[in-house]
Amino acid sequence: MNLDNPYLLLTPGPLSTTQTVRQAMLRDWCTWDTDYNEIVQKIRAGLVALGNASQAYTAVLMQGSGSFSVEAVLWTALTPESHLLIVSNGAYGQRMAKMAGMMGVKSTLLHFPENERATVEAVQKAIASNNEITHVGMVHCETTTGILNDYLPIARMAKSMGKVVILDAMSSFGGIPIDLSDGNVDFLISSANKCIQGVPGFGFVLAKRAALESCKGNSRSHSLDLYDQWHSMETQSGKWRFTSPTHTVRAFLQAMHELEEEGGVVARNNRYRNNHRVLVEGMSQVGLKPFLASDLQSPIITAFLEPDSDLFNFKKLYDGLKQEGFVIYPGKVSQAPTFRIGHIGNVFPEDIERLCAAVRKIKFW
Ligand SMILES: *Cc1c(COP(=O)(O)O)cnc(C)c1O
Repeated sequence: MNLDNPYLLLTPGPLSTTQTVRQAMLRDWCTWDTDYNEIVQKIRAGLVALGNASQAYTAVLMQGSGSFSVEAVLWTALTPESHLLIVSNGAYGQRMAKMAGMMGVKSTLLHFPENERATVEAVQKAIASNNEITHVGMVHCETTTGILNDYLPIARMAKSMGKVVILDAMSSFGGIPIDLSDGNVDFLISSANKCIQGVPGFGFVLAKRAALESCKGNSRSHSLDLYDQWHSMETQSGKWRFTSPTHTVRAFLQAMHELEEEGGVVARNNRYRNNHRVLVEGMSQVGLKPFLASDLQSPIITAFLEPDSDLFNFKKLYDGLKQEGFVIYPGKVSQAPTFRIGHIGNVFPEDIERLCAAVRKIKFW
């Protein structure tokens, strides 16, 4: 059996993982046994440390993809009396609004163009103009475009106005330094298969203990009750309430070791930034330009404008690159035709150079 991957995933997750992470899945674990629960506890402690969070924070793992963890936070933090202000410049902000709407919680979507960052002033004005607002939700790296939002000044301001702050750091945590020690974020959400480079199957939340404790009994979803999930893990030494993705969890512990071996978040961030730089240089040689201004760009994923030619065909580029061993991502931007290339995962500048050579080889329009 050939265990090599036929192509490299240049996508925002699931992404290409190391063989050692995948090998960590080659045994079975009992979801209730202490051997396994100790792994869970190590991961929980490691995540708090990775967020540079103090003992004021705690980590909870939740089954499902990242969206399940976002939804678990919303079910748990919000009540029918809450009002969520969502600062949005892309699809993931809108997804939060959709979730709040479906749970019958009032929300206001504060829209910014997909190629602009939210400003503290605009968010402050929105909060000041509606005294119903209790919570503020925002996205750190909007994977729609790859824009890196400046969450900290907004979180600080919202906190000073007494709001609960929810940060979707799904595609940034582990790849971009985040420091929770100042206590301005109440709930930070991320998942196993993004910058920590694990395989998919669960998400996690770094929550301020006091904020989470105050949510007891709020959730009207049982499976997505983050408080209940946390209470079980916290009081029963790492026990999940229901069947957990044991193989994924074990692989994640390996991925956390490998992040540390690489030199931690700063070293990983440097590698991702180099990937991005090599990509933009290489693509510019065939006339492809990024959608975002460079000062807005994250090192996670790059959206490129489709060439201004009727002959351009994304499928042809996609299929050609797949043949050459690379899978890329379609666009998601509403205001311009784009396609996206992710540069997170077990991907190195040499891989990106090979990708650019493949793009040059394919006559994609
Ligand atoms: C990946 C991602 C999510 C979660 O998506 P899933 O498909 O549910 O894993 C949420 N927000 C952002 C910003 C993401 O990049």
